[in-house]
Amino acid sequence: MANQGFIRNMNQRRILTLLRREGGLTRAEIARRLALTRSAVTYLADGLLSERLVAEAPDNNEMPREAGRPGVTLSIDPGGNYFLGAEIGVTAMRFALVDMTLKPVKAKTVEWRKPPSPAEAIRAIEAFLRACSAEKRVGRRIRAIGITVPGLVRGDGMVLHLPILGWRDVNLLALARAAFRIPVAIENDTNGVAFGEVYRHPKLSHDLVLFLRLGNGCGGAAILDGNLLRGTSGVAAEFGHMRIADHGPLCHCGQRGCLETYVNLAALGRYLAEAEARVGPDPVQVSDAIGAGDDAATAAVERLTAHLATGIISLTNVFNPSDIVLGGAMRPVLALGLERLRDVVAGGIVAGMPPPKIALSAGDPYECAIGAAAIAHHAQFDVSALSVGGQANGAQRPAD
Ligand SMILES: [Zn+2]
Repeated sequence: MANQGFIRNMNQRRILTLLRREGGLTRAEIARRLALTRSAVTYLADGLLSERLVAEAPDNNEMPREAGRPGVTLSIDPGGNYFLGAEIGVTAMRFALVDMTLKPVKAKTVEWRKPPSPAEAIRAIEAFLRACSAEKRVGRRIRAIGITVPGLVRGDGMVLHLPILGWRDVNLLALARAAFRIPVAIENDTNGVAFGEVYRHPKLSHDLVLFLRLGNGCGGAAILDGNLLRGTSGVAAEFGHMRIADHGPLCHCGQRGCLETYVNLAALGRYLAEAEARVGPDPVQVSDAIGAGDDAATAAVERLTAHLATGIISLTNVFNPSDIVLGGAMRPVLALGLERLRDVVAGGIVAGMPPPKIALSAGDPYECAIGAAAIAHHAQFDVSALSVGGQANGAQRPAD
């Protein structure tokens, strides 16, 4: 017999997911959309109202019945619950607090002279958590925490290899769980950015979205039906290490010919130098130079775009994605080659396959921290985070 608690949780998540995507709906409309009885929706909504996960729309409450009152609508209560996101970076940590509608309400950057130790990073998160909780409207309403790191994270929350921070085999989830009394999710930074980008725009029909984050590296992420594609051990979608040549520049992963080494900032620097451009590999300056008619800079960006197209053609042939989103520090340069990129990809993929929509990410400086908070939100409240076994995906369990 089905576990009643699980069924209730699942149906409450279905309601929250529907309201998050579509805004305010009456109980009757929710019942119709989710094929539930009116009395079931009333029962489930009472629980959501008592937890301040949803609120009744006050405007409709005040309308006189004689005027044909359409019924009270339920919508997500923005200030009922909050989620903390933390991006652990090499020279800085960025924090964001988002409300129940994923809107950022507080953000902060803490600079580091050297990369933080795991304990220092946890202490910095604790300090931001305390500062947020001290605000009257937030108080004890922070429901969960998401943390991103610039490297591989295993499904059980173990940070495998973080050479740029000097971390290796750190059980960050266990450290975070010892420090915080609320649920914690640990994620790779590119996954965080990608997830936030998709999850915060639920009206867009994203059935399979690939994300490439180009800067010093080339991170990748894939989101299928609202969930990050994690692979067997949680480290999938390393698109930057897709081999596009037998030989080629040495990649930091130890291999040669990785896509990353043809499309990152170092590659842009090489192409600019070889074209004898007078500008260095600063994407904003390169963009300005091209705007001023610098042919050498234009040639360098065309080379980079051509290599990126080669990678995206293979990714498209493998995944048949609906959307490909490009983000990271390279955005100003990518913007210049976007039309060309779309054309080359459309002409290079398997015949008959519809080309994906290719667009740039929004590029918010807090996108990673906001994405981490979005992952925490999703694990707590979205129906797509539930696995068949009734466990929430993305909320890792410790290895012990
Ligand atoms: Zn590599």
